[in-house]
Amino acid sequence: MALVSLLPEVTAFLARQHGHFIHGHPTASQGERIMIINPANGKAIASIADAQQTDIDAAVASSQSAFRGAWANTTPAERGNVLLRLADLMLKHREELAQIETSQSGKTIQISRAFEVDQAVNFLRYYAGAATRITGETIAPSLPSFNGERYSAFTRREPVGVVVGIVPWNFSIMIAVWKFASALATGCTSIIKASQFTPLTILRIAELATQAGLPDGALNVVSGGGNAGRQLIVHEGTSKVSFTGSVPTGIAVGRSAMEAKLTRATLELGGKNSVGFLPDVDADKAVAGILEAGFVHQGQVCAAGERFFIHRSRIDETLDKLGQALASIKIGDPLDDETQFGPLANKAHFDKINQFFAQARSEGNTVVFGGESLEGPGYFVKPTVIRVDDPKAPLLNEETFGPVATFYAYDDEEELISLFNDTPYGLTASLWTNDLSRALNYVPRIEAGTVWVNMHTLLDPAVPFGGAKASGIGREFGSAFINDYTELKSIIIRH
Ligand code: NAD
Repeated sequence: MALVSLLPEVTAFLARQHGHFIHGHPTASQGERIMIINPANGKAIASIADAQQTDIDAAVASSQSAFRGAWANTTPAERGNVLLRLADLMLKHREELAQIETSQSGKTIQISRAFEVDQAVNFLRYYAGAATRITGETIAPSLPSFNGERYSAFTRREPVGVVVGIVPWNFSIMIAVWKFASALATGCTSIIKASQFTPLTILRIAELATQAGLPDGALNVVSGGGNAGRQLIVHEGTSKVSFTGSVPTGIAVGRSAMEAKLTRATLELGGKNSVGFLPDVDADKAVAGILEAGFVHQGQVCAAGERFFIHRSRIDETLDKLGQALASIKIGDPLDDETQFGPLANKAHFDKINQFFAQARSEGNTVVFGGESLEGPGYFVKPTVIRVDDPKAPLLNEETFGPVATFYAYDDEEELISLFNDTPYGLTASLWTNDLSRALNYVPRIEAGTVWVNMHTLLDPAVPFGGAKASGIGREFGSAFINDYTELKSIIIRH
């Protein structure tokens, strides 16, 4: 056991009376207090304020003034440099941010360091570079010329305005960075509304952004629940929402956005991601792949696999070896350096996953491993493997967003491709085989925003990410994000 002691700056930060972060400063709020619970022990570690209309108005006014003023007056290179300085500051405060994140989310300290901080820094640096690579095109118009006049045309990509970034609880640093860095790189300003379960790290990062030289108002943070998010979306001063969260909330967000004032909406939603192993993959390789696809951060990863398809000739051996591998995983305090598997992120989610366990049994599925919670304080459950005999079984089709891997045996590869696609969702999928030709033949037939071959879950800032079908609208990262954060302006010149 190598339990990490909280740094004094973490203890001091948690003890503060948190409100919002508006116009370069932490601000108090009269809003109702929301307790922040450490899911490893069920104890309150801090509280935030639920935003009131006055807080929302103040944040939007600040964001608009920066959008039309200080931030508009920076060059693309200056914008990139601020993001680079923030990346350096986040690394300097790596352990502090990781400890706050683990305390509020139950993420293991190793994942908080390596993914929440280090990977978020990689994304920040990518977006910093993108700030200087936003371009339009030149066009030769075919307009008629009566007196020898000629025409030239070009397009500009211009920032849409104040962008509301709404963030879920599973990766509260990294997803917030995706939102505000996309906005800032394109010349927009950003208001982040974090999840009410995990709102603390972004409040600290906003302070670091000011220290990095970000003008007041370019990044504001509003704390609170779903209503705060809705109020931001429908506010007349905001122009776009970039939402990451569940499908039902995403549909509500899209509706609010459209009805209010045609607010632009990018929706990064959940799903039920498929993982298929061709028969040439042996059981040991498959087990390594299943652990990577299904159990990182207790399965609370939007891109994680939940529907696993294994050839009938391989499934018994694979599930046997998977059970042995899961039995040796170290479950425990996420602040312990050696812990591999921490608690679920909050009580409501813990209750939901326990209901899935009960459902698995009541529907007569085989619980191969786990399927139960652990005694004691905190929201711990065992990593779980379920086998179903019916491809329509609810557990194979409903998102659990937890460490619940559901398996089905297929008989031939055409059936496998149908199983991949027989879902309303399409965020990610992975196909595992030693035969690259077969993989490349199947990839175009798999309906998902990202298809991995022989890997799962890892995202790269240079590669666009987003959902097909009911898993969302729009793409983040790569160069694809630029379209979603800018308006295309056409300029035609007669000469
Ligand atoms: P959620 O949909 O419950 O909440 C997401 C955010 O929306 C929170 O900040 C919440 O306060 C806010 N919200 C709630 N109601 C709102 C409303 N009416 N208007 C505006 N905002 C509102 O999701 P969650 O439980 O925090 O996160 C888990 C879900 O997120 C899973 O379904 C998962 O698949 C999905 N997810 C998707 C991605 C992706 O990139 N596609 C990434 C991570 C998580």
